[in-house]
Amino acid sequence: MSEDEVKKCDSCGAEMYLAQKVSFRVGGTPGEWKLLFGELAELGEKMLPLDFYVCPKCGRINLFADEKTKQFLLRLTPKAFLKRCVKCGNKIPIASEECPHCGATQPEYEEL
Ligand SMILES: [Zn+2]
Ligand SMILES: [Zn+2]
Repeated sequence: MSEDEVKKCDSCGAEMYLAQKVSFRVGGTPGEWKLLFGELAELGEKMLPLDFYVCPKCGRINLFADEKTKQFLLRLTPKAFLKRCVKCGNKIPIASEECPHCGATQPEYEEL
C-alpha cells in the first residue's frame, strides 16, 4: 500500500475510506462558481472528478481532487481572479472590460 493512498481523518486521525468518486460540475453555474472559477465557469459543462472520503469513526467527510483535477484547478485558479491590462500591465479583475488604471478596453479573455 502506498503512503499517499491513505487519507487520515483531520479530526480523529482514523483512516478514511473512499466512499465514492463524484463528479463536480463546473460549467453552467452562475454566481459563486463564477467567483471561484471565473471564466472557467463559462466554459460550459465540465465535470471535475473528485474522491469522496468518509471517516468511519467520526463521520467526517473529505473531498480530494485527483492529480489531474488538482493540476487543472491550480493552473486556472489564479487566472480566474486576475488578468493583466493589455496597455499598462496592471493586474485587474478578470471580468473588467476596461482597465481601472488607464481606461484601456480589454480584449476577450483568452482560453488557456
Ligand atoms: Zn474521524
Ligand atoms: Zn491599464
